[in-house]
Amino acid sequence: MRKYKLLIILLGIIIGVFYVTRTIRTFTVKHKAQTLESEHFIISYDGIYKSEAEKLSEHLESNYAEIRTNLKDVKHGVIKVFVYGSQYKFNVATGLENANGTSRGPNEFHFVWTNWFNSIFPDDPLKTALHEFTHCVQLNILINKAKETITIQNRTEFDKQFDKKFATEYPRWLWESISIFEAGEVNSLSVKYAKSKNLTLAELNHSNQIYNIGYTIIEYLTQKWGNDILPKLIASFGNIEKTLNISTKEFEKGWIAFLEEKY
Ligand SMILES: [Zn+2]
Repeated sequence: MRKYKLLIILLGIIIGVFYVTRTIRTFTVKHKAQTLESEHFIISYDGIYKSEAEKLSEHLESNYAEIRTNLKDVKHGVIKVFVYGSQYKFNVATGLENANGTSRGPNEFHFVWTNWFNSIFPDDPLKTALHEFTHCVQLNILINKAKETITIQNRTEFDKQFDKKFATEYPRWLWESISIFEAGEVNSLSVKYAKSKNLTLAELNHSNQIYNIGYTIIEYLTQKWGNDILPKLIASFGNIEKTLNISTKEFEKGWIAFLEEKY
């Protein structure tokens, strides 16, 4: 009986601390849009601390060159970053419902600064930022590549044609895997769970399991074919046959064997 009492008191203290900390955060954080400029990013934030925005700015700048070099990004303009202190504010601003981050073209991305006070299982917001930044890098590369084939001068018409080409031809498994890999979003429990579903790349184009297992696709690719394979795969719109000279089935077989060994 005494044990239960102690447990209840302990639980009460934890819940108490949680609510007090949350209340302090709500009242001390500024709910007003502020900006923080650095060499390559302009961060607009609302509902997070200035110190958090500074941490984000440093993290983005210190990963900027490496991610762009890995993917062989071409010239890149300044990127606008919009950070939200709650899922609700993100949803209102972006019109999305089932995401916590999104890229809007090569020079803009939005995401929620998740923590224990605004979500049940928070993601690491610094990783979410790198993930969305990597989408911007992929888009920049693809748009520049598209300029070789879509020769229309009219900007609106070019954007329309590019959007169509991107939506129909660039595979989601590659689009997400590369961002997940560059952001380092992986944990072996989630990989094991997704692995048990035996999904093909085509199936991963329509499954959220890509977020659990996407990291390992690029991990396998770069370990077996080297880092230079990534920019080639992006430029070919994920054409495995053309880039690796093997069939997609053979690639999947090798990847599954890699998973069996490592995870
Ligand atoms: Zn993504």
